[in-house]
Amino acid sequence: MDADRIMLRRPEMLEELHIDWRLGSAAVSLDTAARTVSLADGSAVPWDGIILATGGTVRTLPTVPMTGGVHVLRSRDDADALRAELRPGTRLVVVGAGFIGLEAAATAAQLGAHVTVLEGAPAPLIRGLGAQMGAAVAAVHARNGVDVRCGVSVTGIEQRDGRVSAVTLGDGTSVAADAVLVGIGVTPATKWLEGSGLTLRDGVVCDANLCAGVPGVYAAGDLLRWPNAMFSHVEPDMRVEHWTNAAEQGAIAAQNLLAWSRGEPQTPYSAVPFFWSDQFDARIQFLGRSHPDAVVTVVAGDPSEGRFAAMYVLHDRLIAVLGVTMPKMVMPSRALLSVPTTREQALAHFERLKNPPAPAG
Ligand SMILES: Cc1cc2nc3c(=O)[nH]c(=O)nc-3n(C[C@H](O)[C@H](O)[C@H](O)COP(=O)(O)OP(=O)(O)OC[C@H]3O[C@@H](n4cnc5c(N)ncnc54)[C@H](O)[C@@H]3O)c2cc1C
Repeated sequence: MDADRIMLRRPEMLEELHIDWRLGSAAVSLDTAARTVSLADGSAVPWDGIILATGGTVRTLPTVPMTGGVHVLRSRDDADALRAELRPGTRLVVVGAGFIGLEAAATAAQLGAHVTVLEGAPAPLIRGLGAQMGAAVAAVHARNGVDVRCGVSVTGIEQRDGRVSAVTLGDGTSVAADAVLVGIGVTPATKWLEGSGLTLRDGVVCDANLCAGVPGVYAAGDLLRWPNAMFSHVEPDMRVEHWTNAAEQGAIAAQNLLAWSRGEPQTPYSAVPFFWSDQFDARIQFLGRSHPDAVVTVVAGDPSEGRFAAMYVLHDRLIAVLGVTMPKMVMPSRALLSVPTTREQALAHFERLKNPPAPAG
């Protein structure tokens, strides 16, 4: 897609907000006593209230130099640089079979590249979907000619004339490559907050109102960890790396900051996490949260045909619903995930969705 089609806000809209933009100079430290943020250019910005929203920083492999055709994918510049490598016949190796890696693999394959995906875990997408459903989604890739190899370890790369020529594996073999994408996840971008006194534990630790423990300091998005009351039976606190979560938390953090400034009550943020991912012609939608001990049952369709829905149950409570090109099974299940729903109740719900009652008359 061209860049102008993916713009989130038109520049005129941003101007109308009369925001004082300070671009190109990162925040390097936060002083919660003096209530200032220091920037890389040496200046300091005072604040009465602050929302921390620095997102995530892409992880890289220590044994893989990020030069000569080796890419990551986070920013628009990253996407442009990777896109410039892709043409019919390009041998692209993707390290990491998470959502970013598999989406990039699908897009590259559709542009005519020969794609190999290397994953250390026994199945793709384990963190998001669990092993069983991760494997089912990977089958979509196999059907479209992407070579997904799991349980392999990447030890480094080989270069020729300053360009990557192969990725080397722990078993002594290698995979020829013209370009490499390292898609092995992000770490929360909290480095600049070290020494601020805020609690950092794989993210900025916040309360249910998204407050980071100091009055007037809030956080939103990939950066933060908070107790999501709707999912306290799955995890005591969680960090979510998805778009809907970031957008909703941004709004709640701003509302709560203003409410705090006026001495008004705050609104806790509690939600059913949701994400989607488009890979080839499959639309993957996931509501809720996976758990290693969850029992996964296919409730509609057939994974071998690449179109199905599945439910995740933990201790006889529905905790997640996955749909692969089955939108009618996913979104109507959101309400069930926000209240205790047993396995039996969930099965009955999916039966109703599959066989809706005939309209009266
Ligand atoms: C390639 C890609 C595909 C994705 N696809 C999907 C998808 O299909 N569905 C979905 O739900 N989610 C998807 N996501 C995830 C989604 O984009 C993120 O969850 C979301 O952008 C998080 O928003 P955020 O505001 O927390 O962080 P970000 O969007 O990362 O924004 C953080 C901003 O802070 C800036 N920043 C960082 N450090 C500093 C600093 N020290 N000082 C000043 N500024 C700083 C960064 O430059 C950045 O502009 C995708 C992400 C990527 C990278």
